[in-house]
Amino acid sequence: MGSVGKGSSTPGLVPTSSTPSRFVDGTSSSSRSRSRIAMDGEEMGEEASYAPENSGSAVFDGGSDGPRTIKMIVTMPPYLDLGGFADHHGWDGVNAYLDMARRGLEIELDLASKLLPHPNEQVKRLGSLMVCENDDVSRLRREYDRLVGTGRVRCEWRDRDDVANIHGRDANFGAGIWMPDDARIDSTAYARALLDAASNMGGAVTVVEDCSPMTSVETMINANDHVDNDDDDENEDDHRRSHHAEVRLEDGRVLRARHVIVATGGMHLDANLAGLMTPRYSYLVALPHPRRRRSTTTPAGGDGGGMEYPDSPNFFTLGFSHDWCVESDFVRISGEDHFSGLKRPRSDERCRNLAEWGRRKYPYIDPGASYPSRHGVYSETADFLPLVGTTSASRRVCYMVGCNAWGQASLSAVASWAPALLGYRDYRPDEVEGARLCSIGRFVGREVSGSARATRRSRTMNARSRL
Ligand SMILES: Cc1cc2nc3c(=O)[nH]c(=O)nc-3n(C[C@H](O)[C@H](O)[C@H](O)COP(=O)(O)OP(=O)(O)OC[C@H]3O[C@@H](n4cnc5c(N)ncnc54)[C@H](O)[C@@H]3O)c2cc1C
Repeated sequence: MGSVGKGSSTPGLVPTSSTPSRFVDGTSSSSRSRSRIAMDGEEMGEEASYAPENSGSAVFDGGSDGPRTIKMIVTMPPYLDLGGFADHHGWDGVNAYLDMARRGLEIELDLASKLLPHPNEQVKRLGSLMVCENDDVSRLRREYDRLVGTGRVRCEWRDRDDVANIHGRDANFGAGIWMPDDARIDSTAYARALLDAASNMGGAVTVVEDCSPMTSVETMINANDHVDNDDDDENEDDHRRSHHAEVRLEDGRVLRARHVIVATGGMHLDANLAGLMTPRYSYLVALPHPRRRRSTTTPAGGDGGGMEYPDSPNFFTLGFSHDWCVESDFVRISGEDHFSGLKRPRSDERCRNLAEWGRRKYPYIDPGASYPSRHGVYSETADFLPLVGTTSASRRVCYMVGCNAWGQASLSAVASWAPALLGYRDYRPDEVEGARLCSIGRFVGREVSGSARATRRSRTMNARSRL
């Protein structure tokens, strides 16, 4: 995932949109009406549908048409190199992010090992290799030295020959940073397992699925009044009066709860997120990966070797222009991030760019006449960190958005703070720095510690828990 790619397009290669199965929120393409948008009098086709299957949860279905429904779990900060990330957040921020991402990875792997029916097949801990082109070796080396300097992530340097051994010589990468602890997961099965586990918590949790889309969510102070968004964090009246949150659905249904956590990715924006979060489109293709003899010794004659099969580590470039891996004998390539999949050049062309990039790097791969392709929307923030918490202490609506392309690690850590965010417990010492880093309070200009209850308690009992 990363900056807009520059791949050339090739007539003749045609991506095919795979049929989505059920997704994290349990919706399927057929279960909802899909609005079609006509622009400039032109019907724009499939890309114009603003539909749940194009959420960040976008995956392939697995089986004979594509790789399993996987997401990579990556612990490096998104987009920026570590120095760029430090410009935003300081080196303490870099350290806090790496701690948080590593914790998120461990939480996800731990839960997956307990809840997934076939964890050995559905989770693969094969590591990640960040690679660079030949011109960028010194930049990558600096990144490596800085990463080692943090002491946060296990990593090893890989020189040009090492990298050729992993990718083949045709790929022509200059060097790499090997991070052995990264993993990937069947994210659809994992999300399903989490929902099932929640449903089985003895009636404590009700999972509502296949419902109409949410149109609004707000904190209510009594039956019909909603709290003024501008009111003051310190307003005691508000703390006393606000008592629940309301979610309104498109079909008119209203769901009420003491607290609501909004985890809608990049697809739902409300007034509190305006200007803080940008929906970004990203793309996926799956190319068949032949089971070929790996050889790195004879670059001449076109046999430049190739990637491990049926499963390779995660790969991504310095700057995250592309990420890819061999999964179940398919190469899953992602990238080509863009502000809109609905605008020309549309999804087909961007997916074709990805396929072309794959064929250029690994000439032994033949994408064939058509191949599975997808696009999805994820949420990006101004400083590439999640937006987490309520916008003031009296609010009952808690945000958990802003995956910035690598939410499997970061948002897994964030999700584990939910009880503290809602005021049911204090933050643990190892959570405080991450929670401070991601607090939505950094943009709304207030100290934020979660719910009114938490704030009242923290005022009197534990001022240190305030973030
Ligand atoms: C093509 C692609 C590939 C990616 N690959 C990776 C990867 O390998 N590793 C990684 O860490 N991240 C990856 N990401 C980023 C990924 O989006 C996040 O890691 C993760 O899915 C973010 O989770 P989320 O809960 O924030 O949002 P999402 O997964 O987008 O989930 C939001 C959910 O809310 C639902 N929703 C939204 N609005 C409404 C509404 N109004 N009413 C009801 N429901 C609503 C959506 O339908 C969706 O089910 C990828 C993203 C894309 C697009």
